[in-house]
Amino acid sequence: MNFSESERIQKDANEYILGGVNSPSRSYKAVGGDAPVVMERADGAYFYDVDGNRYIDYLAAYGPIIAGHAHPHITAAIKQAAETGVLYGTPTKHEVKFAKMLREAIPSLEKIRFVNSGTEAVMTTIRVARAYTKRDKIIKFAGCYHGHSDLVLVAAGSGPSQLGTPDSAGVPESVAKEVITVPFNDIESFKEAIHHFSDQIAAVLVEPIVGNFGIVEPAEGFLQAVNDIAHDNGTLVIYDEVITAFRFCYGGAQDMLGVTPDLTAFGKIIGGGLPIGAYGGRQDIMEHVAPLGPTYQAGTMAGNPLSMQAGIALLEVIKEEGTYEQLDALGKKLEDGVQALIQKYNIPATINRLKGAMTLYFTKEKVVNYEQAENTDGEMFAKFFKLMLKQGINLAPSKYEAWFITIRHTEADIDETLAAVENSFKEMSL
Ligand code: PLP
Repeated sequence: MNFSESERIQKDANEYILGGVNSPSRSYKAVGGDAPVVMERADGAYFYDVDGNRYIDYLAAYGPIIAGHAHPHITAAIKQAAETGVLYGTPTKHEVKFAKMLREAIPSLEKIRFVNSGTEAVMTTIRVARAYTKRDKIIKFAGCYHGHSDLVLVAAGSGPSQLGTPDSAGVPESVAKEVITVPFNDIESFKEAIHHFSDQIAAVLVEPIVGNFGIVEPAEGFLQAVNDIAHDNGTLVIYDEVITAFRFCYGGAQDMLGVTPDLTAFGKIIGGGLPIGAYGGRQDIMEHVAPLGPTYQAGTMAGNPLSMQAGIALLEVIKEEGTYEQLDALGKKLEDGVQALIQKYNIPATINRLKGAMTLYFTKEKVVNYEQAENTDGEMFAKFFKLMLKQGINLAPSKYEAWFITIRHTEADIDETLAAVENSFKEMSL
C-alpha cells in the first residue's frame, strides 16, 4: 500500500495544526507514531484515503456512525436542512420532534436539553446534580472517559476512598479533589467511597456499559446496587450514555438493562454524524436548569437544525426492524472467527463483545476493569494495528477502543476482515 499523499498532507498538518490532529486520539502516537492515514471520502462500511486505498472501517468515528458513512436517508435530511438554513438561534419544530422521539425510546428523559458534544452534556449533568443536591463531590469509575471538562479528567486513585489527582495539566488540584475514583465492577469499593464521603457526594457518574477501556459489561447486579446505594445516600445517579445509547438497542443501555438513572448524558450516535450532545432526566431535577431554575446552561449552536434533522433521520434508519439482530449476527461472526484464529495461532488474546461492538485485548485474562485493560500488551496491539491497516482494515489506533460494526457492513466484509486477522496473527506468531 502506498501512503505517500497521506504522509505529505500530514507533514503539512503538523505545520499548521497542533500535533497534526484535532483530537489526540486520532494521532498514531499510541501505535508507534507514524503519520495517520488521511481519509478523502467514506461510503457505507468503507473509507477511501487520499492515496486511493480502500479500508473496511471499524472506527465508525469512535461510535457515531452506526448507520455507516453517508447513509442516503441521513444525507438527504442534512441536504434538506442545509437548504432551509443551518442555524436560527430560535426554537424549531425539529428540536421538539427529536426530543419526543428520544423520550419515546428512553422513558427516563422526562425533560431534555440539546447541547453540542458529549463533553458538554456530561459537564452539565454534573452541574445540575450539584445544584440539586447542594453537594460538591462526585464518584466516577476508573478508566471511564467522560469528555474533557476539568472535573472528569481525573485518574484513578489507588483505593476506593482516595481523592483524585488531575489527569491533565491545567486541571486544578482543588477541582480534582472533588472527584473520587473507584474500580468499575467493584461494588464494595463503591460502597466504601459512599460511606466515607457520605453527604458530600452529589452524584455517581456511570458508563452503564463501558466503552472507553474496551467494551466491558457490568457484572450481574452491579448497576442496580450502584443505584440503590447511591439513592440511600441521597446521591444522584448519572448515566453517561454517550457511547451506549442506541448502540446496543433502540434506546439506552438503561432500557436494555432495566436500571433507571436520575440524569443521562448523550452524544455521538444521536447526531447522525453531526456535532451533538444532550442531557436529560427526572423533571424535578431538570427544573433546576435555566430558564426555570438557577443552574445555568446555554448554547449558540444548541439544538441546531442540521444536527436535529440528522439525528431524526438516524433514528428513523435504526428503528427499522432487525437492526440490532443484524449487528449482533455480524458481531458474532467476527468474534467467533477471531476467537478461532486466536486458538489456531496461539495468540495471547481475549475478546469482549456486545452486539456490534467488540474489543480484542492482547492478554489471556478476561477484562472486567481498567487495571486489567491497562495491563494488556500495547506493543502487540500496535503491531496488529499496523498489519491490519496495511491490509485495508481501519481500527482505532488504541488498545482501549472498540471495533464498531455498522448496518452497512456485510458478511463479505467480515470474511475479508478475518482473512486480514489471520495474516496478522500468522506474522505475529512467527
Ligand atoms: N462520554 C463518553 C462515554 C465518551 O466516550 C466521550 C467521547 O469519547 C465523551 C463522553 C465526550 O464526548 P465528546 O467527544 O462528544 O465531547
